[in-house]
Formats: sequence, C-alpha cells, structure tokens
Amino acid sequence: MKRIALFPGSFDPFTNGHLDIVRRGVGLFDEVIIAIGTNSSKQRQFPLAWLTAQLDALFADEPRVSVRSYQGLTTEFTRETGASYLLRGLRNTLDFEYENAIAQANRQLSPGLETVFLVTSPTQAAVSSTIIREIHRFGGDVSQFVPFTLPALSA
Ligand code: ADP
Repeated sequence: MKRIALFPGSFDPFTNGHLDIVRRGVGLFDEVIIAIGTNSSKQRQFPLAWLTAQLDALFADEPRVSVRSYQGLTTEFTRETGASYLLRGLRNTLDFEYENAIAQANRQLSPGLETVFLVTSPTQAAVSSTIIREIHRFGGDVSQFVPFTLPALSA
C-alpha cells in the first residue's frame, strides 16, 4: 500500500520552512499532498488561486508531491485523499503544545491516522508565515524566506 502523507496548513504564504518539511517528507513517504486549508471566515493575505499556481510550478518536476485545497475537517480530507499520515513541522515548544493537542484530537476523530512530526532544520527555525506577512505588508524584502516572489499587496 502506498504511504500517502497529507501536509495540511494555511501556507499564507508557503515558506522555505514548509518547503524543507515537504522535501524531507518525500524521503519518508511515497506521496506528499500539500493540503491548503481554507476557511471562509478567515481572510487570506495571499489568494488561494495564486498560491496553488505557485506550488504547482514549484513541484512540477516532483510527481510525488501534489497540491490540493480543502475546507472543513482535515481528518475528512485524509479519507478523501487516501492519506494515512499527517505530516507537520515543529519549531519550538509553542508549536509542540499546539500540534500535540491537534494530533490527539485528530487521532480520536480518525483512529489509525498517525501524525508524523519533523523537527525544523536549524536554518528554518525562525521562519514563520505570520512574520513574513508582516514584513511583506510593510514593504520589506522577504525573498530569503520564501521559494517564490510574493505579489505586491494592493493598498
Ligand atoms: P497552520 O495554520 O495549520 O499552523 P501553517 O501554514 O502555519 O499552518 O504551518 C503548517 C505546518 O508547518 C505546521 O505544522 C507548522 O508547525 C509547520 N511549520 C511552519 N513553519 C515551519 C518552519 N519554519 N519549520 C518547520 N515547520 C514549520
């Protein structure tokens, strides 16, 4: 049976930290699905269609990585995609507290679904979508943190 991992997140925007987790995930699983969670009540800074197109291009030469978006429960989406693993990244103890709670809940909702954590690479430990959004909003150069050029924000 194929080992399919879902890597769920907001990815607003997708960063080099996320990229590092995907690349390492490909070494562990047969397929990695980047699953962009969307929530109609939460406004994204970077449009979903733009992000999906960037990620499709970024992984065009990697047939084992695909990009999907979903709404609702992540556990439902694992069923829909046939994923048996959730892939997540850990940077620090704050991530751990949050991720631990989510992983426990997901396991209750979907027994047998395993969450696999990869500890961040040291060079990516300080990279966060929140900080990148802030720097970009105020016109700072974020090119060293992201794998593609971010669109200018309209005023
Ligand atoms: P969410 O809104 O679900 O937390 P994110 O897009 O912020 O989604 O992050 C998705 C996953 O990637 C989370 O598991 C997060 O801990 C992990 N992650 C984010 N940034 C990094 C990084 N720099 N290094 C390793 N993992 C990271």
